[in-house]
Amino acid sequence: MGTQSAQFFTKEQKEDIKQAILNAELDTSGEIRIHIENNCPGEVLDRSSFVFEKLGMKKTKLRNAVLIYLALNHRKFSIIGDAGINAVVPENFWDSIKDEMLVRFREARFTEGLILAVTKTGEQLKKYFPHQMDDVDELSNEISYENN
Ligand code: CA
Ligand code: CA
Repeated sequence: MGTQSAQFFTKEQKEDIKQAILNAELDTSGEIRIHIENNCPGEVLDRSSFVFEKLGMKKTKLRNAVLIYLALNHRKFSIIGDAGINAVVPENFWDSIKDEMLVRFREARFTEGLILAVTKTGEQLKKYFPHQMDDVDELSNEISYENN
């Protein structure tokens, strides 16, 4: 059940992913979160929007949080940004990042795929939401799991 997704990555891999988020957030005021669960009930976009809201990700000052969502059993994933991001970026903003993730996920290189996605997200967001001197870490850099 809930423990499976939490044990998917080793402690070391989790640290590496968390570090990638911390590094990416040194470039941008955007906040990046990763949520992992076993099953995705319904459409992946509906589910990730639900998780986005549930994790309080709409509460950032600039409405610039990004969620990378992954459902292990259903082999589904998505990247979604909040309203502040959608208002300024081109429509296909996440496509190249998703493509690069997919290449790695297909080869079961999940840690690498996530770290790459986090890094690229930071680089892309930097243009629109540069890092601020008085930056606050508005959302936790820890991976979240279902039922947490
Ligand atoms: Ca921040
Ligand atoms: Ca953060």
